[in-house]
Amino acid sequence: MRRVIYSAAAVLISLLPAAPASADPQQKNPVAEGYGGAVATVDLDASKAAISVLKRGGNAVDAAVAAGAVLGVTEPYSAGLTGGGFMVLYDAKQRRVFTIDGRETAPRAMNSTSFEGIPFDEGVTSGLSAGVPGTLAHWDLALRRFGTLSLGQALQPAIDVASRGFVVDQTFYDQTAANVARFKDITSTAALYLPNGAPPPVGSVFRNPELANTYRELARRGPGWLYGGRLGKEIVATVKKPPVTPGSTRNVRPGLMELSDLRAYRALLREPTKVSYNGMDVYGMAPPSSGGSTVGEALNILEALPKVGVHEYLEASRLAFADRNAYVGDLPGVPLRELLSDGFAKERACLIGDRALTSPVAPGNPDGRYGPCATPTGTATPIADEGPETTHLVVADRWGNVVAYNLTIESTGGNGIVVPGRGVLLNNELTDFTFGPAPGDPNLPGPGKRPRSSMAPTLVFDHGRPVLAAGSPGGSTIITTVLQILVNRYELGMSLPDALAAPRATQRNTAQTQAEQAFLDKYRTELEAKGHSLVLNPEIGAATALEFRGRDLVQAVAEPVRRGGGSALVVQPR
Ligand code: GLU
Repeated sequence: MRRVIYSAAAVLISLLPAAPASADPQQKNPVAEGYGGAVATVDLDASKAAISVLKRGGNAVDAAVAAGAVLGVTEPYSAGLTGGGFMVLYDAKQRRVFTIDGRETAPRAMNSTSFEGIPFDEGVTSGLSAGVPGTLAHWDLALRRFGTLSLGQALQPAIDVASRGFVVDQTFYDQTAANVARFKDITSTAALYLPNGAPPPVGSVFRNPELANTYRELARRGPGWLYGGRLGKEIVATVKKPPVTPGSTRNVRPGLMELSDLRAYRALLREPTKVSYNGMDVYGMAPPSSGGSTVGEALNILEALPKVGVHEYLEASRLAFADRNAYVGDLPGVPLRELLSDGFAKERACLIGDRALTSPVAPGNPDGRYGPCATPTGTATPIADEGPETTHLVVADRWGNVVAYNLTIESTGGNGIVVPGRGVLLNNELTDFTFGPAPGDPNLPGPGKRPRSSMAPTLVFDHGRPVLAAGSPGGSTIITTVLQILVNRYELGMSLPDALAAPRATQRNTAQTQAEQAFLDKYRTELEAKGHSLVLNPEIGAATALEFRGRDLVQAVAEPVRRGGGSALVVQPR
């Protein structure tokens, strides 16, 4: 009898229309729509961790930390507890936006000349570039201040994934393969990520029991285990004497980090940046990130223009980057209010005409005295190219809390040095400082200073209600990716999935605008006629975003293709 009922049910099910692929929560799908909470990350395991936290009654901050910790396992070349990041979050109860700065700091022994004369590549794989880890303190502060879970509870999904393993995909393989030369030169890294001397093959199961154990110990002992305790001592020892493979000729410079630097580290609550744009409020990350100020200034410039298309998008970004490079860093006196003022934006916007400006354009003068059209006289600061690393996730919960969270270890693979026995790579975030000499540059290294970031987790509000959250990896292209998503959505009228999928271009006050092939195909002729010079960048960004569509309905969106595509999930599918 049971059998009959079962097969009748099966017939019935087969008569129903096939569920769209995006409804299968066991697969990576870039779009999910529904109720009760939503998440988008680059990774299915991380998104699932967030959803399981939400389903068990956790809030968006709990879920963001749980997902971030899983990304430390499955995306270990972009994220880790020894890295740093920025979170912009909306606390629905307080109806207020907060931001958490979990950026790494320079050790106290570092000064403006510490990187001078060092080739950039040598800085990348070194103890010197390892900043004091911020991410663990960030998770701890986020949970204590805004979460409901303990650190141990939030780490549990990551412990599970690290112990049972995850299936190696093409992205993980490619990222490992791109790092083989330097991973080989570090004994602890080769042992973990080059089993049998080569990257783990696609389709194999990769386990990281040492990282599972590190998370377990943190769950038991708390963050003090790193910020002054045994794990901290091991990190300092690794930074000072990286475990270089015998016979390697690589010059792996030691770092300056001391245990006292770890003891002194604090994640910080900061005021968000805020601009009003087309009747909405856009909140972002203040310095030491340049994300909020640069996205915000560019939006203000666009708002001051009579029309907005791709040409205007590129020009606004060009000008905002000139100002970012000249004025933003982790130092007192960043003219944030003026950079985000409408007066300054108008003065900058009036430089935009039908022809592309010639980069590098000079920074403007955010001094509070704005004429109708001032020609800037300052000197442009060059911008270093940055890679495609880092990760971003978004979460919303059933109470209306929203989190946009960027986390990173800087280069893909950080500084390439795994802390022996702990299963975690160190960051090389301090390469985000200007190496110098560069007198007057706001981003020179200094004791305890945080390197300027481009991370731009962003929340958009309409009449006080959150409507959209977005962010991306990609070094300084993070800023242009977020800006372009907002332009696509709000100026060009695309849906959010289309706004993310659309081909990208990035103009950061450089002579040439980098653009993806599909962007070149579509806009090259039009833009070259206006004097733009375009060059191919095969892939820009790997964004995640979400949008509230009506009172409780949320659409979570990840990349359909870039970086292998991301994973959007909701608690209760529509
Ligand atoms: N270190 C970069 C930043 O803070 C993020 C890493 C990257 O995407 O290059 O801007």
